[in-house]
Amino acid sequence: MINPEIKTRVLIVEDEKDIRRFIRMALEDMGYEIMEADNVRRALIEAASRQPDLVVLDLGLPDMDGLHFLKDFRNWSDRPVVVLSARSMEADKVEALDSGADDYLVKPFGVKELLARVRAQLRRGAQQSSPMENQLQFGEIAIDLGRRVVERNGAFLHLTPIEYRILTFLASQPDRVITYRQLLKGVWGLAHGEDIHYVRVHMANLRKKIEEKPSQPRHLITEIGVGYRFVC
Ligand code: CA
Repeated sequence: MINPEIKTRVLIVEDEKDIRRFIRMALEDMGYEIMEADNVRRALIEAASRQPDLVVLDLGLPDMDGLHFLKDFRNWSDRPVVVLSARSMEADKVEALDSGADDYLVKPFGVKELLARVRAQLRRGAQQSSPMENQLQFGEIAIDLGRRVVERNGAFLHLTPIEYRILTFLASQPDRVITYRQLLKGVWGLAHGEDIHYVRVHMANLRKKIEEKPSQPRHLITEIGVGYRFVC
C-alpha cells in the first residue's frame, strides 16, 4: 500500500552535474524524494543505507562501469532500475537488461520520456508487491491464469501452449523490456539459449491472434535488436 506520508525515493547515479540536476528537478516536480551519487562506490552506499524505490543509473561513471552497480544491487534488491547511457549499441542495451535493468534510455532523452518510464516502473513495482492476480486484462483481451484461457471480448482465443506462455510471461511484466535471452529462458528453459528466430516466428503468430493490426502492434511491442516490451 502507498502511504501518502512516505515519499517515493529515487536514487540518481550520474556523474555529469548538469544532467543530474536536470533529472533531479524533473523528479522532484513529481513529488519524489531524491538522493544522488556521482560514482559507483557512492551509489552502492546510498542504495544500501537509504533503500531507494527506484534507481536511475548512468553507465559511464568515473570509478567503475555502472553495470558493476547493477550486478551488486541485484544481489539484494528487486527495485526497478532505469539505465541511462550514451551507448546506443544494441549489445550494450542487452547486456544492461540481462544484468537486471528494467528499462533503458539512450542519451539525449526528453524529460517526458524519462518521467513516463519512471512512472511505469514504479507502477510495476507496486503491482509486484500486491498478491498475484488470477486475471490479466488489457484492451479487449482477458487472460485467466487459473483456467489457462485467453479471451477477446468474451470469445475464446486458440493459443498454442508456447504462445500462451510467451503471452503470460510478457503480460505479467508490463512496461519492462524483456530481452530475447530472458524470454527464451522464461518460456523454453535454458536449452534454447540463442535461438532468436524461434521467438520471432511464435511472436508473429501470437500477434495475429492478439493484436487488431498485427503489423502495428499495440501490446506486444518490438524493441529492435533487444527483445519485446508488453504494454497494457
Ligand atoms: Ca557519465
